[in-house]
Amino acid sequence: MKLCPLCSGSSGNATYIEAGNARLLIDAGLSCKRITGLLGKIGVDPRTLSAILVTHEHVDHVRGVNVLSKTYDLPVYANADTWAVLKPSMSGVAPKNVCVFESDRDFYLAGARVLPFSVPHDAVHCVGFTVTAAGRKVGVCTDLGHVDARILSILSGCDLLLFEANHDVDMLMAGSYPYLLKKRILSGSGHMNNEDCGRALVKLCESGVKNVILGHLSRENNYPELAMVAVRSVLEEAGVADGVRLAIAEREEPTGIFEVL
Ligand SMILES: [Zn+2]
Ligand SMILES: [Zn+2]
Repeated sequence: MKLCPLCSGSSGNATYIEAGNARLLIDAGLSCKRITGLLGKIGVDPRTLSAILVTHEHVDHVRGVNVLSKTYDLPVYANADTWAVLKPSMSGVAPKNVCVFESDRDFYLAGARVLPFSVPHDAVHCVGFTVTAAGRKVGVCTDLGHVDARILSILSGCDLLLFEANHDVDMLMAGSYPYLLKKRILSGSGHMNNEDCGRALVKLCESGVKNVILGHLSRENNYPELAMVAVRSVLEEAGVADGVRLAIAEREEPTGIFEVL
């Protein structure tokens, strides 16, 4: 099983996952041209993708979906609530490629078990995904305001997890964002800050998660080094940092291919 964050952050998100015979693209938040280029850097021809899975309708997750599907004849999977919002801007997606999943219910794609699970975020119905094949599980969970016991239980035992460390609260508060935007980001349906990310990871590391990629970092309100230090120190204080590997997802480049054996 392989996972590669192709791009991550509010400018655009896309993650490539190979599991069983499935080649999945979770979100396509840059243009078709740029996603094609990023896939090319890791040797993947977009024509060979099994499907695009959409977490939610925010533009940093769907910018390239319409043209990618149209150009390469790719099925697009999203829940009904998200499709209802997306449909008007998805005229290039052929009817046969409009695929609807039910959130919080798993389905199978080319030998991979896909579980879309609901997360609190200010979109119509945002989901994260776990993908399981051959006894290995990876998780992609960015764009959420907080975690609860249900989300932690779904992500527990992931062999590899892409998880959100969006912002540093002090940087956000001192920064130039308008008050309402700050409030939105800080809310329980906004984005995870570094400390809350660390606290969620304490529980996940206790469940056996050892490999984590921190993603969806804010360009204005975070730094990779700051996110890394903040999260690691929460893990260290809780005494669960031993053997845990942390990486940071690049904003506009493939971060590397993470193999889960
Ligand atoms: Zn986003
Ligand atoms: Zn979002």
